[in-house]
Amino acid sequence: MTMSAQTAKVPVRDWWAALKTGFRLRCPACGEGHMFYRFLKVSDCCPHCGEELHHHRADDAPPYFTILVVAHVIGALMLIVEEHNDALDIRIHMVVWPILTLGLVLLLLPRFKGALVAYQWALRMHGFETAQPNTFTSGKPA
Ligand SMILES: [Zn+2]
Repeated sequence: MTMSAQTAKVPVRDWWAALKTGFRLRCPACGEGHMFYRFLKVSDCCPHCGEELHHHRADDAPPYFTILVVAHVIGALMLIVEEHNDALDIRIHMVVWPILTLGLVLLLLPRFKGALVAYQWALRMHGFETAQPNTFTSGKPA
């Protein structure tokens, strides 16, 4: 059996659907189980369907994407507010922007990590290729 014949038997996973499911912090295989057992700690296996999730190698990518988005959103908002109300007290800036930044980071960081883990799962990266075959078509386990 050739290598292409072996890989042809592996079902293709919908990476976009998995990405969206991961962004919702759900298991990319079933769409039901929680991907994390703590704030940023990925469960070894999905508590709903048992899909192995410990193969992920998210590393620095989730903070990178979080900083990329949060810096652009907060930076743009700061410029807009400053443009329309340059008399605003600096103490308000010193309170509002750090709180908004922290809130947005806490909101987005686990979501970007979930999306990245799901993306790696969909493309069978980093050991996900050896996990049991599972397809993602309708959000339900195959
Ligand atoms: Zn699952």
